[in-house]
Amino acid sequence: MFDALAERLEDAWKKLRGQDKITENNIQDALTEVRRALLAADVNLQVVKNFIADVEKAALGAEVISGVNPGQQFIKIVYDELVKVMGESNVPLATTATAPTVILMAGLQGTGKTTATAKLALYLRKQKRSCLMVATDIYRPAAIDQLITLGQQIEVPVFELGSEANPVDIARQGVEKAKELGVDTVLIDTAGRLQIDESMMVELARIKEAVKPDDTLLVVDAMTGQEAANLTRTFHEQIGITGAILTKMDGDTRGGAALSVRQISGQPIKFIGVGEKVEALQPFYPDRMASRILN
Ligand code: GDP
Repeated sequence: MFDALAERLEDAWKKLRGQDKITENNIQDALTEVRRALLAADVNLQVVKNFIADVEKAALGAEVISGVNPGQQFIKIVYDELVKVMGESNVPLATTATAPTVILMAGLQGTGKTTATAKLALYLRKQKRSCLMVATDIYRPAAIDQLITLGQQIEVPVFELGSEANPVDIARQGVEKAKELGVDTVLIDTAGRLQIDESMMVELARIKEAVKPDDTLLVVDAMTGQEAANLTRTFHEQIGITGAILTKMDGDTRGGAALSVRQISGQPIKFIGVGEKVEALQPFYPDRMASRILN
């Protein structure tokens, strides 16, 4: 396991061989290699720095286990720390005792937010939960049509009021509609812009205030790498997220954005998108992601 990193660590762990303990002196080269590996996996620089400090703390003083290759022992420490930082286990979607559970989808345009809304609805439907999707992106009429088409495809109703209505009203009425229909989860798709923009944030905050979501999920394109960190920080500070969905994990990214999103927001990544099809959604597992980041 982790052959690429193991290879890079080869020289570094020669220093550990024959030592009884991992110390500040003999670990620096190994930490440098881990730092390089994480940057190559697109983890944000500041996030890498914090993480390396955690690893150093976890590793210092550890006895070098005899019979075990010290490099492998060190990789295990890094791996365990990655899993720990990413939350140990999968965190499911919020559920509430009184229906409907409200899930607010946030993120930039093109990240896969609308697709993720439909993916989640299908995922929940397969668990015998009923859903309503709400289209509040009035700025791109194509976005409303896209959600309607996806709704037809997965047989989930869509609430919309066209592109003349106010997004906050649409969201509020969508939740009322969900109560009327007796569905247990309402998923609210929101407008995204190409870049973070003040009016988008204000509108999102108003929608959030109006519908009091149980889950506010930031949709992050895993291919954006370093940028994922700034995006998460801004959305978390201004809106307050309770989780994230990392899309486009079927691309050639190693998934470093996962570590950035989790460390910066402290909120769990709940799902990953692994393709364009509506079925291409998987629960997020920190151990699998740790393996991918280190490989
Ligand atoms: P939105 O503007 O954030 O609502 O983004 P869309 O849902 O319209 O998705 C933008 C593009 O990304 C579309 O071409 C989607 O098919 C594609 N997409 C969404 N999720 C994934 C994913 O997990 N993997 C891949 N490869 N493409 C995705």
